[in-house]
Amino acid sequence: MSIPAITDMDVSGKRLVVRADLNVPFNDDGTVSDATRITRFAEGMRDLLAKGARLVILTHLGRPKGQRNMDFSTKSIKATLADALETEVFFAKDCIGDKVENQANALKDGEVLLCENVRFHGGETENDAAFAASLAKLGDIYVNDAFSCAHRAHASTSAIAGLMEAAAGPLMLIEVNALTKALEAPKSPAVAIVGGAKVSTKISVLKNLVGKLDAVIIGGGMANTFLFADGAPMGKSLHEADQIDTVKEIRKLAAKSGCKLLLPVDVVISREFKANARKQVVANDACPEDAMILDAGPEALREFEAELADAHTILWNGPLGAFEIPPFDHSTKLLARSAAELTRQGLAVSVAGGGDTVAALNVAGVADDFTYVSTAGGAFLEWLEGKELPGLAALNRA
Ligand code: AMP
Repeated sequence: MSIPAITDMDVSGKRLVVRADLNVPFNDDGTVSDATRITRFAEGMRDLLAKGARLVILTHLGRPKGQRNMDFSTKSIKATLADALETEVFFAKDCIGDKVENQANALKDGEVLLCENVRFHGGETENDAAFAASLAKLGDIYVNDAFSCAHRAHASTSAIAGLMEAAAGPLMLIEVNALTKALEAPKSPAVAIVGGAKVSTKISVLKNLVGKLDAVIIGGGMANTFLFADGAPMGKSLHEADQIDTVKEIRKLAAKSGCKLLLPVDVVISREFKANARKQVVANDACPEDAMILDAGPEALREFEAELADAHTILWNGPLGAFEIPPFDHSTKLLARSAAELTRQGLAVSVAGGGDTVAALNVAGVADDFTYVSTAGGAFLEWLEGKELPGLAALNRA
């Protein structure tokens, strides 16, 4: 792929139509409860503003389903965005039409215009060419800075890029570079940790990873399904009895490509799925009928840590156990801390992503120590699956 970078271009005096993902959560009083997406985005934008760019910002907020519904107005993020950009932000009541075009034309160097929710128009999610053409009228260069929306072929992430000069934004470039380092050209040995509830939701991820990496550590409810396929009793454990063929296929693929699969040799079980429930460590084939496996055991953790110790690349998606409920967060926390320590020592590049993974790393208190933590849930998973992301394909000028 050859994706032009906005950071390499002369942006002075240019109107940049920037697609951001400022879809943030809110408190009951309407204030932004977690501004991470806005602050991360603003960091890259401040540099462009300092170079004299004029920003026309497009984003979606929630799912208004093509209707003008003020509950989803982007006006509610204007103040937070202004704080993060450290400059005034003008607001346009629509993202297409004469009015917003006039506002965009009136921008001076270093000024910012935030447009109303692109999803107030059905044409957005339909990747409609006419809607994209209206958006393209707002500026000189299109900039996609929303990696987390890159798995969607929408008008503001896909069609628009074919209508004007187009480039990746600063945040998009950071994310793509980090993921490329971890998956497309990883420094060997490269190890993935794949956990979470179900094999069925990550079949493509597992198939892709076992074909590319040296080892895959499997944890969480997913590991139960692998153990079940090997004949282990599950008791009341979460597992998918209908996924035995998938497990066999993944094992075959791994053997063919020389990828080592690691499963927990021992497990933590409990009779209750609640905080501070009594726990017990048993071998991975010894879960009693009335108990459930909720975490990897101490011997498993030692083996996983030994595998990571030699790794130069670590990729992480999904927890090793029911990490929301202590003490079943134990192995997720400890392995996350090991990965963080290897990263701090400069021994490994570590990339993690997916909603629950970010939460798990935060529980372990190490999210900042990873080389890169992606907050793009769907797009991150589709990247792990090896799929082409429409938002990136649209920027490709190769
Ligand atoms: P996912 O969304 O697929 O990454 O799955 C994350 C969820 O899997 C979390 O809510 C975990 O609590 C849950 N989970 C992981 N391991 C287990 C387990 N052994 N038993 C039940 N739930 C688990």
